[in-house]
Formats: sequence, structure tokens, C-alpha cells
Amino acid sequence: MKALCWFGPHDVRYETVPDPVLINPRDVILKVTSTAICGSDLHLYNGYIPSMAQGDILGHEFMGEVIELGPGVSNLERGDRVVIPFNIACGGCFSCERKQFSCCENSNPNAWMAEKMWGHAGTGAYGYSHLTGGYAGGQAEYVRVPYADVNAMKVPDGMTDEQVLFLSDILPTGYMAAEQCGIQPGDTVAVWGCGPVGQFAIGCAYLLGAERVIAIDRFPERLKMARDRGGAETIDYEAVDVGEALKELTGGLGPDRCIDAVGMEAHTPGFEGLYDKLKMTLKLESDRPSVLRHAILNCRGGGTVSVPGVYGGLVDKIPMGSVMNRSITIKTGQTHTQRYMRPLLERIMAGQIDPTFVITHRLPLEEGPGAYATFLRKQDECIKVVLKP
Ligand SMILES: [Zn+2]
Ligand SMILES: [Zn+2]
Repeated sequence: MKALCWFGPHDVRYETVPDPVLINPRDVILKVTSTAICGSDLHLYNGYIPSMAQGDILGHEFMGEVIELGPGVSNLERGDRVVIPFNIACGGCFSCERKQFSCCENSNPNAWMAEKMWGHAGTGAYGYSHLTGGYAGGQAEYVRVPYADVNAMKVPDGMTDEQVLFLSDILPTGYMAAEQCGIQPGDTVAVWGCGPVGQFAIGCAYLLGAERVIAIDRFPERLKMARDRGGAETIDYEAVDVGEALKELTGGLGPDRCIDAVGMEAHTPGFEGLYDKLKMTLKLESDRPSVLRHAILNCRGGGTVSVPGVYGGLVDKIPMGSVMNRSITIKTGQTHTQRYMRPLLERIMAGQIDPTFVITHRLPLEEGPGAYATFLRKQDECIKVVLKP
């Protein structure tokens, strides 16, 4: 089959690779019908996630048609259209029973590797390094889905791929980002980063009762989308001082809830940006956490900082004194995707959410290597790429 494979920083290739086969009784094989490139794929593309190996198949946002089933999968049939969450859950362990699916203890065969770095391992995930299990990703013609009885959600007839594809990651991620803010009526929510997760966090913050959402980015097309589609007020962080602007917009208090939808590769003007770049170059920190710092420092006392943005390892100069002395709650986590897929599907069917508006590029899978480059450089106003094998 054909697949998009990682060969090193800024080196993704459209390669011929072996077809996936059933390994365990609860596996299915999917013929992929749609897949997307995620902002977090860019961390792989830039070479910031350790334990990638040459030839690894990329992609954790995908859906398709079931073509082969293991004997342990009784709730699916050949021909079913399904969408797959990016993280793999067994459905039966301590964490899965508590619906904390992204902490599943059974789905990461390389747990020992992750334990060294994170103390305990996280769940397995598709196409996202050997730290998360080394699973082949779905930017491919075919993919193996483990524990498919709990990880494949059937798509109702009549819904298009584009309507449901983002249930695999970014829509649940944007939703969980807003949900874990604990939004109260009247709240103002600030969202750093107007990529697809930021856009969905804006919409979900309103769905969950926010009165105002303020969106922060530097790309005009993303700020425009946040205004026109999300109904947010916007701040261009290259044009104004974000802290001053937020104070002005909130009567000096600061936003009640702050969402970091940027993560480990924040771009920051001035000294702070140089500091993080230098420390990263010297391998003294693995992530550039300036948005996390700003979210903490700008949040009102007693407020909540929610972090859907991906972090990999060690960060520096996190203002813990501000967190402690001002009673800031920080909530984060890889998305417990399986928990949100069905309720969000129902909201899509009810017309409350239309996730298709973030798509700016629709391309054949073979144009994936170029699409990675376009998306990285934000060329051609690229916000979200959907690929068709
Ligand atoms: Zn993703
Ligand atoms: Zn589990």
C-alpha cells in the first residue's frame, strides 16, 4: 500500500510499505477513506518528538471502511464506516473503567520508554513515535485498529466524511479544552492559538456558556476565522501587548479562563522567544512554553488555565508563584477522545456544531509531503488539510 512516512525533520515521503495485517483478535483493518494532518503532526515534522524511526507511518486522524475483522470483534461488520480516536484504549483497565481513556494502561507496548521520561506511561497512539507505542498511522491506504470493539465508532448513514472525521481528535480536544475550564455563566475565555483546536475551543466555550471569547494569534486568516465563524473578539499578538489588551478588555481583572491551544512550539517575539530558542538549542529544555506562561500570568485570580496544546518533556520558568498565590487551577491532558465522540456526533447531527469550516485544503494522499510543508509555513492560508487515499 501507499503511506506517508517520516524519514527525519522536514522529510515526509509517499512510500510503498507492507499492508497491515490482523495481529490480535480485537483488531480490524480499515480501508482509509479520509485522513487529516494535525498541528501536533508538525511537532514530529519538526523533529521535536523523540523516538521516531525512519519509515514510521504518520497520521492519527483518520476514518474508513472495515474490510477485515479479528474474531474478538462482534459489534462491527465488514463494510461499516467508522471513525477512530487518535489514542488507543483497551476499554477494560483501571483508567478505561474511569473513562480516562488517554491513560489506558494496556495499549502502549513501549510503556517502559515512556515511564523513563514521564514517570508513568501514557496510552498508545497512531503514528506518534515509539514513546506512544510505535503504531502505524492512518495517513495511508490501510491501517490496523487495535481494540476495535471500543475504538471504532460507526458513522450514521448520510453523514459525510468531513462532518465526522474530526471526531478522531481535534473536535473532542477543543471540547475537552473548554469543558475542563469549568465555564460559569458570564465568563470571559481567552484562547491562545487559532489553529483548528483553538477554533473548536472557541465554539465549544460558547456552547458551554461563555459570554465572551477572546482569541489570540498572529495570522490574519486565523483571526478572521475566529471572528467570522467563532464569534470571538481577536488580538494580534504581534501588533499589541497581549497582557495590556486583555486587561483592557476585562476591566483589569483578566480572563476567567485561559486556554493554551498552542503547546510546545510557541512563537514569541522579543527576549522571551530568544531565551526559549537558546535553551532548546542547548537541550536545556525540550519545549517552548511561552503561551503557558502567558496564560498563567494573564488569568484572573481564582481562574482556570486549560492546556490542550501538546507538551513533550521539560519546560522552564513556569511562574508557579503566580499559580499558587493567585489560586490558579491548571487542567490538562491528552484528550479522553472515546468519552466525547458520541455526544459530539449527536451535536453535529443536531446542527449545533459544523466542524467542516476549518478545512482549507483537500488533497490526494500522494500530495501529503507538500501539504506538510505548506501547513508548517502557514502558506496559502492553510488551516486544516484533509487527504484522500
Ligand atoms: Zn491530531
Ligand atoms: Zn485501558
